[in-house]
Amino acid sequence: MDVGLSNFMKSIRLVEVKIDSLTEISENVFVLSFKRLFDFLPGQVVAITTGHNLPPRLYSICSGSEEARISILFNVKPEGELTPRLAKLKTGDAIMVSAPFGAFLGDDKPAWWIASGTGVAPYRSMARSGIGHRNMLIHGGRTTCSFYFSDELKQLFSDRYIRCCSQESGDGMYHGRLTQWLKDRSTLPENTNFYLCGSSEMVVEVRDILLGKGIEIEKIMSEIYF
Ligand SMILES: Cc1cc2nc3c(=O)[nH]c(=O)nc-3n(C[C@H](O)[C@H](O)[C@H](O)COP(=O)(O)OP(=O)(O)OC[C@H]3O[C@@H](n4cnc5c(N)ncnc54)[C@H](O)[C@@H]3O)c2cc1C
Repeated sequence: MDVGLSNFMKSIRLVEVKIDSLTEISENVFVLSFKRLFDFLPGQVVAITTGHNLPPRLYSICSGSEEARISILFNVKPEGELTPRLAKLKTGDAIMVSAPFGAFLGDDKPAWWIASGTGVAPYRSMARSGIGHRNMLIHGGRTTCSFYFSDELKQLFSDRYIRCCSQESGDGMYHGRLTQWLKDRSTLPENTNFYLCGSSEMVVEVRDILLGKGIEIEKIMSEIYF
């Protein structure tokens, strides 16, 4: 983390909230929810820590902006400092949370939403907030269990929901990386924005593919999970 970001993270004000629910929705992948103390714009993040002098980490909100609870989706990094601790918490335990912030925001303009792994979280928030139901949602994951919220997203996006599964074949899924799926498109839509969210490798690679296919840089919005 660079010094500026590290100072910013230290300066964030946190409030204590109690966990309402913590559910493992796939192996080592959890949805954690707590009372919505703040309004937010779909696509924003919160900083979270368990306290104990542990600097907060950022998580995209995956719930809708009118819901009573804020939810986040996280995967456990086995060597990580925060996520193994978060995964062991119970309903009623306290965590420290910031007010929502961030500029990766959905709007009513046509867009393709592209995610790897837990990077699908902000799009679920946007969709549950009534934004972007005509958009394409393209989600990349390694196994057939990587497509979090897929029942809900299938309902919302129908055939505009593309799951690209790189290491397994699955019903209704494209077998391959999402970068390959994108490379295979002979044309991309005009007057459309492209949102990229997830690992830095995916974001950088997809950005290059889009630029190579003639998409202007101003039409590409990125949120990198580092
Ligand atoms: C804008 C933004 C939004 C984000 N949104 C989400 C989200 O919605 N969901 C989500 O899951 N994540 C999200 N992230 C990532 C998240 O903030 C954390 O970085 C992530 O959860 C890891 O936190 P951690 O404390 O468990 O790992 P850290 O302690 O920060 O470790 C990070 C990585 O380093 C490795 N590592 C650390 N120490 C060691 C060691 N001693 N030896 C070997 N490896 C080591 C860990 O395995 C891990 O992969 C987001 C990040 C950003 C910037």
